[in-house]
Amino acid sequence: MAHDPGHIELHDPETDPLATYVLEPDDVRPLLSRVVSSAEAGTFTSHAPFTGGPIAAIPLSTPDDVARAAKAARAAQRLWAARPLRERTAVLSRVHDLVLERQSDVLDLIQVESGKARASAFEEVCDIALVARHYAARAGRYLAPRRVPGLIPGLTTTRVLRHPVGVVGIIAPWNFPLTLTLGDVLPALVAGNAVILRPDPQTALTSLWAAELLEVAGLPDGLLQVVVGDGPTVGAAVVENVDHVSFTGSTRTGRVVAAHAGEQLVPATLELGGKNPMYVADDVDVEVAAEGAVRACFVGAGQVCVSIERIYVHEDVADAFTAAFVRRTKALRLGSGLDYRSDIGSLTSAAQLATVVEHVEDAVGHGATLLSGGVHRSDVGPWFYEPTILTDVPDEARLVREETFGPVVAISRVASDDEAVAAMNDSDLGLNASIWTADTRRGAALAERVRVGTVNVNEGYVATWGSVGAPQGGVGASGIGSRHGREGLWATTRVQTVAVQHGVHGVLGGPGVGLHRMFDLGAETWPRVYTEVLRTLKALRLP
Ligand code: NAD
Repeated sequence: MAHDPGHIELHDPETDPLATYVLEPDDVRPLLSRVVSSAEAGTFTSHAPFTGGPIAAIPLSTPDDVARAAKAARAAQRLWAARPLRERTAVLSRVHDLVLERQSDVLDLIQVESGKARASAFEEVCDIALVARHYAARAGRYLAPRRVPGLIPGLTTTRVLRHPVGVVGIIAPWNFPLTLTLGDVLPALVAGNAVILRPDPQTALTSLWAAELLEVAGLPDGLLQVVVGDGPTVGAAVVENVDHVSFTGSTRTGRVVAAHAGEQLVPATLELGGKNPMYVADDVDVEVAAEGAVRACFVGAGQVCVSIERIYVHEDVADAFTAAFVRRTKALRLGSGLDYRSDIGSLTSAAQLATVVEHVEDAVGHGATLLSGGVHRSDVGPWFYEPTILTDVPDEARLVREETFGPVVAISRVASDDEAVAAMNDSDLGLNASIWTADTRRGAALAERVRVGTVNVNEGYVATWGSVGAPQGGVGASGIGSRHGREGLWATTRVQTVAVQHGVHGVLGGPGVGLHRMFDLGAETWPRVYTEVLRTLKALRLP
């Protein structure tokens, strides 16, 4: 295949072996010109997971380009933060409409770059619409100054203000190329920040498309700078040039980024890996739970941070649930079409495929039983792998504790709710969990006992992720801080407390009653007086 930028041919062997999809170089070039880059840095050629063929030669940035981008972003940010909030929310409101209107373009791009099925790409479009609508409506409330009780009621007026931090650096992985870039860009912008976005090079085109969309939505020049390059150089340069880092990626890299941000004394939000458990209780409709498990485990070929990799099923329903789960999994359609006909797409890279193969072979080598899958489907595309269900996985197998980040799940039996909770909590990671039960009150009560950032009752991960007013993030080795909701917006702001002391300048006619007058009462009198003040404040139940 010719190595033209932007030239890729896709075919869907299951539907029409001759059908092709061509990403025209002329469509791609305007996107590529948006990268802040230098000729000397060269290019990175991304490859389409569906075919292994080249997609585009993406211009790369140097650390100097990152510094240049930061300087331009800072200049634009000062003007942006001074604009009325309604102008900033109006951009988000237009993004909402535009992303829905132009969805077919970005769905193609996401699929071409990540190799996922269209339904998973559509989740990303929905996510952006939800996030844009939410912050357009709520940013005013979240950013409003907050009055808090002052030191001396009536005499001290204290307000907490939220200012934009300045420039937010977003470092994103490849698995949700729209959600994990634009989805974090929007709250940072609406808070009054500029953004330096460093997408994963493999999925840079989707980010550049998002930058174009923001421009159409009315975002002023300079506020979103896109840089492309590898993590240790360009990613690290982002950390060195910003006022807040939003990092999404593995726990291993998250530790490196956190240490680097720590050296710079720059706050960082870290959204990291998971080894997410599901519990299937004894009262479920097994067909409903099995269908939920199929989606929770295999959407995006399991390359979803919140997808399920461990299932604990109550022994009373274990046989029936497992049979239904295996049957439904075997019915999934693997494919590479740019349409909704396939359920599962490809893994995104050869490296992802290698990890999946290693984890499955290691588990089987330790005595695990394969109930479904375990097959590399090179007949469909170079990195396709069948959805895989394992059982009787011994504790020594790597996939018991390590995130696979692929379409692989291990099923174990438990005898009680307590045993299920203990098993779910037996991990350093704490991102997401799922509980299936016909008794929703029982599910909600169990949820509180699981040490993770989000729990979905009778859903896999969409219910919490899609509740964009609520924080989404992990505990333990799954991260620090969260995206979405008030907390996600606040992460890109700095707080300032302003306390105004009244009655100082003789407002009451005399020499004033301000705090400083108390010290004039004498070294022994003022502690006595203030002790009584404190007692009175408590008696009045003042906070
Ligand atoms: P990764 O940690 O290997 O890389 C993440 C990104 O960081 C990549 O773009 C990489 O190039 C970059 N990077 C590498 N070294 C860096 C450095 N020193 N400084 C700055 N950036 C650097 O992860 P990945 O394989 O790209 O993504 C998959 C992982 O991401 C999984 O563990 C998954 O669970 C996690 N993830 C988490 C969430 C979440 O919200 N918690 C969402 C999606 C993915």
